[in-house]
Amino acid sequence: MTEFVAELDGYLRRLFPIARSITGHGNRETLRILGEIVPLEVREVPSGTPIYNWIVPEEWNIRDAWIAGPDGRRIVDFRASNLHVVGYSEPVRGVLDWDTLKSHLHMHPGLPDAVPYRTSYYRRTWGVCLTQTQYRELEFLGGPFEVVIDSDFKCGALTYGEYLIPGKSSREVLLSCYICHPSMANDSLSGVLLTTFLARHIASLKNRHWSYRVVFVPETIGAIAYCARNEAAMKQIDLGLVITTVGGQGKFGYKQSFDPSHPINSMIEEVFRDAGLEFITYPFDIHGSDERQYSSQGFRINAATICRDRYYEYPYYHTSLDDLSFVTAKQIAETLDLYIGLIDKIEARRIYRNMIPNCEIMLSRHDLYPATGGAQRPELGGRSELDLILWLLFLCDGKLDIDHIAARLGIPPNELLSIGDRLVAKGVLEVV
Ligand code: ZN
Repeated sequence: MTEFVAELDGYLRRLFPIARSITGHGNRETLRILGEIVPLEVREVPSGTPIYNWIVPEEWNIRDAWIAGPDGRRIVDFRASNLHVVGYSEPVRGVLDWDTLKSHLHMHPGLPDAVPYRTSYYRRTWGVCLTQTQYRELEFLGGPFEVVIDSDFKCGALTYGEYLIPGKSSREVLLSCYICHPSMANDSLSGVLLTTFLARHIASLKNRHWSYRVVFVPETIGAIAYCARNEAAMKQIDLGLVITTVGGQGKFGYKQSFDPSHPINSMIEEVFRDAGLEFITYPFDIHGSDERQYSSQGFRINAATICRDRYYEYPYYHTSLDDLSFVTAKQIAETLDLYIGLIDKIEARRIYRNMIPNCEIMLSRHDLYPATGGAQRPELGGRSELDLILWLLFLCDGKLDIDHIAARLGIPPNELLSIGDRLVAKGVLEVV
């Protein structure tokens, strides 16, 4: 268990009430608070910017909303839950009768006490989400109702955050989470917080091999904007984690990357087995989160997700019951430990490829042939360094990872890694 639980809990409580969407001040406020944990850069993409097949929409902000009965009492009140307003609702201020109002109301079909989460980003309309009890009360009162949605649209920007953590290698691992959900804890706030704490952990690792690109984007449109703005860098990335729904109370699981044979998937299964946890395997599916963008044909990043109560799967998904009684900092920290274990594996796992595969290389030409040969070194399992150089050149085919090679040779992986990295520096191996 990590030592971060109390700190995580503080941020969970501060961030939960903020009204977020795909654009707007709530996202800026969220990124500003996350900036207390890691030094992320906040970027703005202006409304109207073309990004591949999409256009950055107008910025939407919401201040207040309510439906008041004939006596002026607020029956539905944005101050009680920001889920009451359909995301991207146009402003409304007027007196409506019941028949007009009810066509704009949304309830959850299965959970009478839940306010559902609804959005309408690209079709201009307005709507109010409410519990079945609130609906019945409005129906009983019959109107007229004062209806106010104090929102506005403007030519503003889409806001995202990024944090680049350099490693010894310029090759990158992508970590991505989405910041566009209002007050729901498992989807997506748990993932945002886990990503931030994981990034801080990664930044503290000494001798970090990989570089990490950590992005905080509104889902879909933000990930598309990010890819468009960072196309060349994103096309170099082979490995990613889309971090969401990590704080529920149910079973752990993971969504595989699009290529089930990619090592990210076997490494995640090893993490679960190391922790002695049962887990659900969700094969790659074209629905889901921002792996849809990162794994699209142009980028083909193998992106997986470790989750606990994955989106779609838990009954409170996309409702007001996905709250801080369902999600706790301790539950998020438990999943954070799994992600930390995975990063350890990614850091330790190295796959090399021999750059000169045709016959043996001329070692002396690369300054690899020992001037005085023959010393047997106990820390290398009694083998000579020359022996291990030859084995590495023989076995590193771009597929076998260093752990397997170390097990085959019967020596600690770290000893092989230091030799392997030397061969990379000499230009005879490359890291795959
Ligand atoms: Zn969602």
